[in-house]
Amino acid sequence: MSLASRIENLTMSKTQAINDRASQMAREGRDVIDLGAGDPRFREPDPARQAGISAIEDGFTGYTEAGGIPELRRAIGRRYSKVFGIDVDESEVLVTAGAKAALFELVQLTVDPGDEVIVPRPYYPSYVSQVALVGAKPVTVSGTKENHYLPTGTEMGRQVSERTKAILINSPGNPTGGVYDSRQLQEIVELADAHDLFLISDECYDGFTYERDRFCTLVSFDYSRGFTVGSASKSFAMTGWRLGYVVGDRKYMGELEKVQSHLTSSPSSISQKAAQAAFTKDLSLPDKTLRQFERKRNYLAKTLNEVEGIDCPAPPGSFYLFPDVRSLLKSAGLGEADEGKFARSLLEEAGVVTVPGGAFGLGGFLRIAYLPGLERLEEASSRISSAVERVR
Ligand code: PMP
Repeated sequence: MSLASRIENLTMSKTQAINDRASQMAREGRDVIDLGAGDPRFREPDPARQAGISAIEDGFTGYTEAGGIPELRRAIGRRYSKVFGIDVDESEVLVTAGAKAALFELVQLTVDPGDEVIVPRPYYPSYVSQVALVGAKPVTVSGTKENHYLPTGTEMGRQVSERTKAILINSPGNPTGGVYDSRQLQEIVELADAHDLFLISDECYDGFTYERDRFCTLVSFDYSRGFTVGSASKSFAMTGWRLGYVVGDRKYMGELEKVQSHLTSSPSSISQKAAQAAFTKDLSLPDKTLRQFERKRNYLAKTLNEVEGIDCPAPPGSFYLFPDVRSLLKSAGLGEADEGKFARSLLEEAGVVTVPGGAFGLGGFLRIAYLPGLERLEEASSRISSAVERVR
């Protein structure tokens, strides 16, 4: 008996092998610096943790409304008014078990087998897998280096066909750190509108923007076929709580709630109480923490740029660098898309974990998460330059 055909093309996360090897090396006592995982390792805000503990102690541990408790939907709506000056009603918010579940449900809601979905490349790997799981086709489009590879509306427009049903964008972006400004986002909204497309905007990293007014949320466009996805994972460092959300037109929220009711029933009641505390007080990154991230970004981008063969811009958002290592690979006698071999040698010889760009659909690059403290980044950077000296 064969498994369903949709599973055949599904690949396990390409980073798994490197992570497994890194854990093994750490167990063997090697000093491994992890620039691979996208998990902000600071603690979740105290009031969020306390609210989670109280939820357990008070017995708030059963199923909740499928789309999330009204208090949390209101708190998320109010955050948009406080942070972005946009009114969002609780009926326009659906709470999910993480942004990944939100994206999965939105693809289920909007895309049929045989449809095409435009996805910027490099991409967060789950986008293409989720689209393929409904029997649709991801059509990938890359932008220019200047725009940190985020494609513009014009670039995406060239790929629109009769079968295109939706566009899935990500800003601030993983893996490149690119951010769409309001003019660029407007162009994409106009493209979607002109072709009657759904537009899904993954804005999980909206707390991590280093150019004050650059980031623009899709919510500000009032586009009725637009859905904005957010998460408590990154800005509140609550990855394990599995709490995300969708903001969209209320006419679609009931349908989305139906999908969710058959998937997770509801998000975790405990996590919802914790997130309510986080969103109500808007405990996302304090300015001081954001400036620390900015310093780490600047430091690592600068020192990597000093290594011959590495081209590493400092992007305006998220907490990733996406250096181009193609010229380095060439001078080491490797192929343009052999960055996996290079990442592997960085791990084995220098004890530094990075993610090969191929995991995001773009070989010849590495993704580097600058989450460890500055001292560890200094150590990582000097290990990388010594390792490069050896391969050249
Ligand atoms: N979208 C992007 C771009 C991400 O980087 C991640 C997490 N790495 C997610 C979605 C999933 O977030 P969550 O933990 O809320 O499911």
